[in-house]
Amino acid sequence: MNAIAPRGRMFFANPGPTNIPDSIQHAISRPSIDFNDAAFFAVYERCVAGLKRILKTEQHLFLYTASGHGAWEASMANLFSAGDTLLVIETGHFSESWGKMGRALGLKIETVAADWRNGVDFAAVRAALAADTEHRIKGVCAVQNETATGVMLPLPEVRAALDATGHPALFLSDTISSLGCLPFEMDAWGIDCVVGGSQKGLMLPTGMSFTGVSDKALEAHKSSTIPKHYFDWTEMGGRRHKSFIGTVPTSLFYGLEEAIRLIEEETLEGVLARHTRLAKAVRAAVRHWAGNGEGVTLYCENEDRVSDSVTTILLPEGHDADKVRATARSRFNVSLGAGLNKLAGKVFRIGHLGDLNEPMILGTLASVEMALKINGVPHRPGGVDAAMESLSA
Ligand code: PLP
Repeated sequence: MNAIAPRGRMFFANPGPTNIPDSIQHAISRPSIDFNDAAFFAVYERCVAGLKRILKTEQHLFLYTASGHGAWEASMANLFSAGDTLLVIETGHFSESWGKMGRALGLKIETVAADWRNGVDFAAVRAALAADTEHRIKGVCAVQNETATGVMLPLPEVRAALDATGHPALFLSDTISSLGCLPFEMDAWGIDCVVGGSQKGLMLPTGMSFTGVSDKALEAHKSSTIPKHYFDWTEMGGRRHKSFIGTVPTSLFYGLEEAIRLIEEETLEGVLARHTRLAKAVRAAVRHWAGNGEGVTLYCENEDRVSDSVTTILLPEGHDADKVRATARSRFNVSLGAGLNKLAGKVFRIGHLGDLNEPMILGTLASVEMALKINGVPHRPGGVDAAMESLSA
């Protein structure tokens, strides 16, 4: 017997991919076009200029038909040589994975250890850079928003640590779950290589990623010897689109042009303010559910580092977060993010980034509260009221 498909729209509260607005879906469905056609090239150039406005850079941009992992690989393969040392600031699953990729590419990865619930102590970053008097460290990698934990890393503090110690390392930052969600300024913050992807704040399908690259990084690229071809910036620079080895994903560019239009219509500041407003409501609900410590809690313990794009919720010992997710999905057609890495089964995540509004957040929170109740997970009822209070304040 076939199961009956749930009625109504799925409430998609994953921290990426995210909801794709109808107008972007429609833009993507336009017929194929030759990627060298003048009509497409005009779209392409507008997209590159728009993406640079969102990244707040006037420097270089390279794009890839690949998920974020491709742009991660491009950032390392284009800038370094086997045996180079990179300093990775620990944030959680995604900093660990980027470092693992570096090791696979032949790099020596050193880590500034950090508590996943509180984020790094910048004194430790400064100490690691100050101790490197021979400047062995060629790059510092920082994930602006750790999608696994809902803890944000203030990038200007990394720049300040590099400047305070006079360290010349390149500054690499991952903005995969923060671009278009949290403030970000590539040029003003002195970032040499920024990694971004299509499927989160940009509200597009998965499949396109990019790197913003500074003049300093492009200079460093010239002496990098890690083998590369598909991601090679020199190879790309000689092509008409100055990016992409191979066919350009034209449909995604139709979508990107519309995404940029939507963001600029709302204004980037308006988009960020909406993310803050919705994130505060989610945190108000979780703090209410926590009660006097007997219920579910915010995984992020550092008030200054809470993420405005994803909230990770920790269950009390002995309760299974995946059961809560399964109930939300099967009973209420709400999709929540799973716990990653050492947090598997212990947490679930609410993604509140991209194309979302107040009723979508409230519907998600109400479904989460029901799923907690059904699974007997301790919580103080009334989290949705707390969220409404926050949204109507
Ligand atoms: N970095 C961060 C912060 C992410 O959240 C993700 C994916 O969720 C990645 C990197 C990897 O990107 P992708 O899954 O698109 O390869």
